[in-house]
Amino acid sequence: MSKKAIENGNFVALTKCFLCGESKDIILDRRFRDISEIHGKAIDKEPCPECEKKLEQGIMIIECRDGESGENPYRTGRLWVITEEAADRLFTGFDFTKNRIFFMEESIAEQIGFHEQKPTE
Ligand SMILES: [Zn+2]
Repeated sequence: MSKKAIENGNFVALTKCFLCGESKDIILDRRFRDISEIHGKAIDKEPCPECEKKLEQGIMIIECRDGESGENPYRTGRLWVITEEAADRLFTGFDFTKNRIFFMEESIAEQIGFHEQKPTE
């Protein structure tokens, strides 16, 4: 047990939502060890309540930097939720009942016209 970690409150840390990057859950070290190093860096693959709502409404497109790949690409901070109908028109041949989250490179999102969309909330 680290007395200093308890005094500084460093035995708690926040996780971030994998999708939107907002703070999500609190991690608490049961032995009160200092876990400040992972504060705001631990990523939770379960969507936060806000993203869960968005995923019920439609397909989520998360913009990432051009040239990024892999499971956790660098995000630009933009994301859009589009209806399944719109997704079907844009991306033919995808099964949107299974995949509701897509990463899209910034230049492609701009080309499609996503950057001109006005925020709805
Ligand atoms: Zn989220």
